[in-house]
Amino acid sequence: MARKARKATKAKTSRKPAAKAARKASPKKTAPAIALHPGIDKGFAKAGKKGFAGGRLTCNCATDPVVLEISSQSMHNHACGCTKCWKPEGAIFSLVAVVPSDKVVVTENESKLKVVDPGALIQRHACTGCGAHLYGPVERAGHPFQGLTFIHTELSKEKGWSPPGFAAFVSSVIESGVPPSRMPAIRKRLKQLGLEPYDCLSPALMDYLATDAAKKSGAYRET
Ligand SMILES: [Zn+2]
Ligand SMILES: [Zn+2]
Repeated sequence: MARKARKATKAKTSRKPAAKAARKASPKKTAPAIALHPGIDKGFAKAGKKGFAGGRLTCNCATDPVVLEISSQSMHNHACGCTKCWKPEGAIFSLVAVVPSDKVVVTENESKLKVVDPGALIQRHACTGCGAHLYGPVERAGHPFQGLTFIHTELSKEKGWSPPGFAAFVSSVIESGVPPSRMPAIRKRLKQLGLEPYDCLSPALMDYLATDAAKKSGAYRET
């Protein structure tokens, strides 16, 4: 025991000058935390406002913006690393949540919206003026997400939306051009922010999808 401790101390002491030199040589050591998305980089409220029941989403156009009324608190808000979800300039992740589709109404300038990829599960409606994605309903019949609409609550001025709770499709940021060597630092930063990194959806949502598939195939068992 004592021998082990002595050894550890010795190793620590001998490493010290090298570490000091590295700190001096590399400006990375003093660089700010890795930027993921401006909505989470400086920390964020860990809970939505009690009784919060939605708000208004506005695109980024300076004139004639597209406006939506959302009459529901957001659910399953999360950081997403996929290449399809809209993110602000420079962000590595998007922040995306869902609401029931019947709680979404476009109130102004709907004619500016265009579906990005009509073949995709999520029908992402983007503004042709500024590029922001305003809403993405899932309409595919029989899909477990049918009836849900994906939204970006950062397009709202109201405070009180449910905060992100996890990070999905984290490895996919490599597909947007993030060097694979940065992945350990990115996962570390997500954990620091309280966003557990997953390379698909969260376990709860993956279980939900698998349960739906099991029910459809007949393999589902209650106990
Ligand atoms: Zn716009
Ligand atoms: Zn995504």
